[in-house]
Amino acid sequence: MYEMRAEATADQGELIWHVISKGTSASPLCGVPLELSPATAPQLEAAVERYCSSCMDAFSTALKSS
Ligand SMILES: [Zn+2]
Repeated sequence: MYEMRAEATADQGELIWHVISKGTSASPLCGVPLELSPATAPQLEAAVERYCSSCMDAFSTALKSS
């Protein structure tokens, strides 16, 4: 199972959605360490949301191989 987690960029102008494999640590598929913030939904006024392309690539690969 996978879940999405949003992380704000440094200037909080964007939210980046990463894919996290449940049952592992909070490390996303792209390997970028996420900031360990409280497990609440981000309440950020980000202007832009987008998906992490590295996570998406890894996610589609994982789906195909399962
Ligand atoms: Zn990612």
